[in-house]
Amino acid sequence: METRVLPWFSKLAGFWRGFLAGIAVVAAGFLVVKSIESLMPRQVLGHLRYQAADPHSLQAVEDMGRVFLREAAAKMFITMQAKAKKDGVYLFPMSGFRDYQRQHDLFFHGARLKNQSKEKRSLVCAPPGYSEHHTGYSLDIGDGSFVREEMAIDTTFKKTASYKWLVKNAGRFHFEMSFPEDKRERRIAYEPWHWRFVGDLHSFKTFFYDRVIPKWVSAK
Ligand SMILES: [Zn+2]
Repeated sequence: METRVLPWFSKLAGFWRGFLAGIAVVAAGFLVVKSIESLMPRQVLGHLRYQAADPHSLQAVEDMGRVFLREAAAKMFITMQAKAKKDGVYLFPMSGFRDYQRQHDLFFHGARLKNQSKEKRSLVCAPPGYSEHHTGYSLDIGDGSFVREEMAIDTTFKKTASYKWLVKNAGRFHFEMSFPEDKRERRIAYEPWHWRFVGDLHSFKTFFYDRVIPKWVSAK
């Protein structure tokens, strides 16, 4: 069989046969590893890569036209906000869609201002290209009872009426917390103020890897 298929191979000296066979095995191994890698989501320091939404698919969620989400997410957020208001809770949209440049500024300028290493910065802020905010499905929610600009965009948000209301009701509106406490093992800080819409097939698929990503991938 061997002599019919690869006659030249059988005529080679033993050393060269072994050498070529070795190269073939290494190349095959390399291809297998690359194929497996291509199936894995691309990530940096625990943050997955996300496509930026088409700006034409976005809609403002407040009157000042500062915070935008994709249309389906925007409509549902406004519906959720109205229901919360009826319950005496004001969900304040702080930040929605961000383009690559905005995330670049937040990540690199923020790190410089705060004298943070990139590793430390990535705990609280995704690198550009790797933020859920690019998708147009995620937003940061502040509590309207706060008057300061910060609006409790830190873990004190957990103590607010807005947070308690969201935990109880956000699921009814297809919103879920992106970075709950158990994601700390992925080197991403607990962000009780950051929620994402998963109420249609595209949004659900957008965040699918984030739900199933194995720990050994994210720990890199
Ligand atoms: Zn956020």
